[in-house]
Order: sequence, then structure tokens, then C-alpha cells
Amino acid sequence: MAAPKVAVVGAGVIGLSTALCIVETCPSCSVTVLSDQFSPNTTGDVAAGVLIPHTYPGTPIHVQKQWFKETFTYLFAISNSAEASEAGIHLVSGWQVFKSTPKEKLPFWSDVVLGFRPMSEAELQKFPQHQFGQAFTTLKCDCPPYLLWLEKRLKATGVQMYTRKVADLWELHSKYDIVVNCAGIGAHQLVGDKKLFPVRGQVLKVHAPWVKNFIRDGDGLTYIYPGIHRVTLGGTREKESWSLSPDPGTTKDIFDRCCSLEPSLQKAQDIKVKVGLRPSRHSVRLQREILSQGEVKLLVVHNYGHGAGGFSVHRGTAKEAARLVEECVRALRGSSSRAKL
Ligand code: FAD
Repeated sequence: MAAPKVAVVGAGVIGLSTALCIVETCPSCSVTVLSDQFSPNTTGDVAAGVLIPHTYPGTPIHVQKQWFKETFTYLFAISNSAEASEAGIHLVSGWQVFKSTPKEKLPFWSDVVLGFRPMSEAELQKFPQHQFGQAFTTLKCDCPPYLLWLEKRLKATGVQMYTRKVADLWELHSKYDIVVNCAGIGAHQLVGDKKLFPVRGQVLKVHAPWVKNFIRDGDGLTYIYPGIHRVTLGGTREKESWSLSPDPGTTKDIFDRCCSLEPSLQKAQDIKVKVGLRPSRHSVRLQREILSQGEVKLLVVHNYGHGAGGFSVHRGTAKEAARLVEECVRALRGSSSRAKL
């Protein structure tokens, strides 16, 4: 058969990394990315992009750990190469601090990040309101650089990218053999997934180049993540809120919370406010589906619903999605015609 044509819907960190893994895994496929938005207008452009996993209650921990490990290993290699600054990938060290000692002192990802250890009494003196803390080094993906770097790599391998809103996956049937759904929160409408819901997050991006270490309150709500040019201050987690408008009261609250963790931020300048919708689900939807309209079939691979942890697991889930695409290609090759699938 001719080269299988694959359409990836979505150009966020999930769509672009999935497209790249498909090119790497199935070099015989012709891959096209279709998306109504590209960087700097994706959820990842709002995110801090720090590799600290979020837990998906519906996914076994060993699977989540595998996704995180694959992502960490992939980005660590980039951070340790000449590509690092263009790709916006860098190591960052810091502290996760708790007001009371957590039940789980060793999170499942503690042996994937570097140098994980309890904080010393001397270190904890920096955080007089906190009793316990963990120090470690992890990775951070700065956006837009990381998404632009992925786009550049895709274009270099011949992947086409078009701005297009897809209202129904069946629109793509006449032109593509396999459709990969990486629409993030857009999948709520695109495939009518009622299990997918937004968790609104508001953050501030500030100029404070003296802040070099990350600080994360153990509840995950307040955080300070230094990037290459800006420091991300967060945040909020508002379930089922679809509003993309910044709230001025929330901006002040975030700023005050971050200043109480890192008082030097009082002098931060050029404060920009951003809002994004985390595409949240009990578990990431990472599966093959065969859609039917009578005798006609459409092969679909879903990869969406990464919630608060898309950066932390993107490469691992993209690899799995590419493996599912490979299965679809084998099924196509095994059938004498698409109608028989
Ligand atoms: P998106 O980036 O939303 O991409 C979806 C793409 O699909 C877009 O290009 C969109 O235009 C396209 N699309 C949607 N519907 C259609 C359609 N019908 N037709 C065509 N195209 C369509 N994660 C971490 O790991 N670490 C962090 O530090 C972190 N911090 C965060 C902070 C905030 C404030 C927020 C909001 C999120 C944070 N996240 C973090 C989560 C992370 O940003 C997301 O999990 C990730 O960006 C989701 O990527 P995505 O590609 O699935 O979605």
C-alpha cells in the first residue's frame, strides 16, 4: 500500500510531540498536523512546564512512572546538548515545602528526578511557615521555545502543518487513513467526551532574574518556577471554569502568596497575567478506536486529557500513541481494503 496518511489534530505539546514520535516510529507514514491554534496560543504557552508529575487516579502508578521517566530521560539528553537553549530545556533546582509533614515522604517520581532528599534544618529556615521540605533538581520546558523547536524538527522531516479547526473527525476520512486526536480540552467538543473537564489556571509571568531556585508549596497551589527569561508565579486550580479572562483579585492573591514564600519577588517587574485550561480527566485517554458509519471505518488514536501534568509525561504518552498508530498501520496493511477493517 501507499504511505499511510496520518493526521494529528492539535499543535500543543501533546500534538507536536506525538507527531514527532510517529515520524520516528513509522518513517513510512506521511504525517500532517492540523490545528486551530499554534504556539504562542496553546495551553503549554501558559504553563510553567516544570517536570513534577501530577497523579492520574485512573492510571496505574507504574505506567505514570514509566511516562515520566521516558520524558525526563528525553529532555535530560536535550538539556545536556547544544540544542538546549534553542529548545528552551534546562535543569532547575529547588524545594517543595510543606506546612505539615506529608504522609507520603517519597513520591513515586523521587528516584527519577535528580538528588531528591529531605531538606536540612538550615534550608528550612528560609521558609519559617513550613515544617518539612524536599530538595531536588528537575527539568523545565520553556514555551514558546520548546514548541517552536518541536515544530522546526517536524518541518525538517517533511511534516505539513495547517491552521484548521476540525469540527468532526469524519471530515478527515477522505484524505487520511489514521487520525490522532491531541485536541486537549478541545476534545470535549470534538469527540463529546463528558469525562473531560477544564481546570482553569491563572499565572503571572514576571521579570525577576535573581530568582534561580524553584519553590513549590506542597499543596501544589502556590509555586515559583524560574525559566530562561521569566519566572512563572502561580497559581489557581478552578474545576469546570471555562473562563480565559484574567481575574485581577486572583492576580493580587497569587502575587501575595508567592511573595510570602520568596519576599524578594516584591521587586519583580513587567508582570504579565495568563490563563489556561488544563484538559483534565480521571486518566489520560490513550487508546485506539475504530469509528464506523455503516460499512465505512475510520481509525483513530486518542491522546488527550493530560490535566496538570502534560509536560511531565508528554514524551512517554507520545511514544505510546505512536505505538498505537503503528498497530493501526499494521491493521491497514493486513486488510485488502479500508472498508474491510
Ligand atoms: P493544548 O496545549 O491545549 O493543545 C490542544 C491543541 O489542539 C491546540 O493547538 C488547539 O488549538 C487544538 N485544537 C483543539 N480543538 C481543536 C479542533 N476542534 N480542531 C483543530 N484543532 C483543535 N504541566 C506540567 O507538566 N508542568 C507544569 O508546570 C504545568 N503547569 C501548568 C500551569 C498552568 C497554569 C496550566 C494551565 C497548565 C499547566 N500544565 C503543566 C499542564 C500542561 O500545560 C497541559 O497538560 C498541556 O499543555 C496540555 O497539552 P495539550 O497539547 O493536550 O493541550
